[in-house]
Amino acid sequence: MTSCFTCGVSWSDSHVSLDCSECGGYALERPCPECDGVCGAVWKRDLSMSHASSKARWEGKCSKQQKPKGNLTSSVSQELSLKLEKLSANS
Ligand SMILES: [Zn+2]
Ligand SMILES: [Zn+2]
Repeated sequence: MTSCFTCGVSWSDSHVSLDCSECGGYALERPCPECDGVCGAVWKRDLSMSHASSKARWEGKCSKQQKPKGNLTSSVSQELSLKLEKLSANS
């Protein structure tokens, strides 16, 4: 079960085919695909789903999404434009 049904490499031996969609470029673990590993989370291959769909499927959670940081710059500029709108409405 820990080998690729498409190309036959053994993921448990850390073998992967880079051009195989079932391998997806990684063996049994990969850095978080949501943020390209920035959050430091490691996702594990969903073996049965990978085999069933012939595409790499991963299980995990992006730790960035658990602690959403508001986009400061956009909220500030939104507030500013709101104030400007009110100002122009008053005049
Ligand atoms: Zn493969
Ligand atoms: Zn992430």
